[in-house]
Amino acid sequence: MKHTNPVIRLHPDMIHSGQLVLVNQTNPVVTSLQDCRLVPLTTIQQAGTEEQELRLNQTCLQQLASLLEACHALENIGVVSGYRSQEQQKHIYDTSLLDHGAEFTASYVARPGESEHQTGLAVDVGQLLEDVDYLCPSFPDHGIYASFKQLAAEYGFIQRYQEGKEHITNIACEPWHYRYVGVPHSILMEQHELCLEEYIMFLKQFPFGGSHLHTKMNNQYIEIYYIRAEDIETWLPIKSDSKYEWSGNNSDGFIITMFHEQEQGSQ
Ligand SMILES: [Zn+2]
Repeated sequence: MKHTNPVIRLHPDMIHSGQLVLVNQTNPVVTSLQDCRLVPLTTIQQAGTEEQELRLNQTCLQQLASLLEACHALENIGVVSGYRSQEQQKHIYDTSLLDHGAEFTASYVARPGESEHQTGLAVDVGQLLEDVDYLCPSFPDHGIYASFKQLAAEYGFIQRYQEGKEHITNIACEPWHYRYVGVPHSILMEQHELCLEEYIMFLKQFPFGGSHLHTKMNNQYIEIYYIRAEDIETWLPIKSDSKYEWSGNNSDGFIITMFHEQEQGSQ
């Protein structure tokens, strides 16, 4: 039997999907509803009543449930906000402008089309209280909440808008807003203290054909590289015995993550 090495074929439109898509003022969301793979919240409590029928990306929800279980927080932390459609984001933005004014809104509410809540990969978590502040929910930095923050990266989450990165993200520090990017990316971002804008740039130092990023996590040898999207289709060879993941960066290319059983010679 003829044995050919498998390849990954990536269409240019696919740069807008995947767990690492960067959504901000300069990179609006292009993800289709189908890409979001939304599921309703079942295992996790809802904090606040502002949103009905809360939904999240399936993997994001599963990992969030595992994270909450790991820090024994299922009775203390709930979801305040998950997936938002363009219409919902517009409604939130317009209401915030009326209720809180332009300055507050610019700091805490993304313009319609520029919110990563529209990907299903972002979640606002909050203390399960009687009265929950919808735009700025209470998320303390002690006890169970501190454990959540500490364990988040192990489950693929990052605190997306951190103190000291406001000049890059253009969003004020939001202790309640978490973004699912998946392991190993969440762990690498934490180790290198990079926000998503910086991490996407950082990965461009590891282009396909150049030297790739190699790291070892959970007994797996992980290899990461960036490739610019070709006009028609991007073809990449893969090793048949390695698990791989791809994600668009939502601007010009893809990030490929390979999980090897054995150490690879650096290339
Ligand atoms: Zn949020």
